[in-house]
Amino acid sequence: MNRVPSQCAICRSWQTAPVCHDCMIRFGEPCKRCRTCALELPAELQSTQCARCLREPYGLDACFAALPYAFPWVELVSRYKFDSQTGWAAFMARTLLGQSAVRDFLSQLTRDDWLLPLPLSTERLAWRGFNQSWELACALQRQSACRATSDASLLLRIRHTRPQSELKRNARRENLKGAFAVEPLRISELKGRRVVLVDDVMTSGASLLTAASVLRQAGATHVSAVVLTRTAPT
Ligand SMILES: [Zn+2]
Ligand SMILES: [Zn+2]
Repeated sequence: MNRVPSQCAICRSWQTAPVCHDCMIRFGEPCKRCRTCALELPAELQSTQCARCLREPYGLDACFAALPYAFPWVELVSRYKFDSQTGWAAFMARTLLGQSAVRDFLSQLTRDDWLLPLPLSTERLAWRGFNQSWELACALQRQSACRATSDASLLLRIRHTRPQSELKRNARRENLKGAFAVEPLRISELKGRRVVLVDDVMTSGASLLTAASVLRQAGATHVSAVVLTRTAPT
C-alpha cells in the first residue's frame, strides 16, 4: 500500500501514499483540541480545555484525536470498517503518530499500562470479521515506541446494542448501560493501572465514557483515549 504507485484515496491523483500530501494539508491539518475531550478549540484560546471540561471534570484524563469526523474522513473510516479494508489501520496510526502530543503520550507508557481497543459485541465482531479499534491499536504499537500492553480481551462488550449513530444524544448513554464489563477473572489486573482506550470514531463520547467508568470501577487510576476522528463541537 505504501510504495506501489496508486491513486490518492481522496483526490485520485497518482502518487505513492494512500492519501496525498496536498489532501493531508487540505483536510488533515492538526488543530488545537481540548486536552480532556479532544473537541476542536479556537487556535487563539489560552485554555487547554473546553468550557464544558473546565466546568466539570470529564470522564477521561486525556483524549487525543487526529482528524475531524467530517469529509473526507467519514468515507474513509467507513471503507475501513464496512468494506474490511483493514490496510487503512497503518495509515490511521501514522496520522495519529504524526502529532507529537500523541507520540509523546504513548512513548511514556510502560509495560504496566494497558492499551485497550474499544470492544465490539460478539455479534458485531462476527458480522464485521475484525475489530477496527484493535487493528488501530496494534498499528499504533507497531509504529511507535509505545510499551503499554495491548489486550483485546480484558475489556468486554457483553451486550449487543443499537449503533450509537442511530440514536439521539441523550439516548446514547442509556443504550450503553451494562454494555461493557471487565473480564471477571482479570479485574485485579486493572488495580492502580493506567489505561489508554483506542477507537476510530468519537462522536458524543458516550461509549468511551461508559467504558472508562467501568475501568475505574475495576480500579484503574488513569483512563485516557486515543481516537482517529472526532466530531466537531455542536
Ligand atoms: Zn489527494
Ligand atoms: Zn473538553
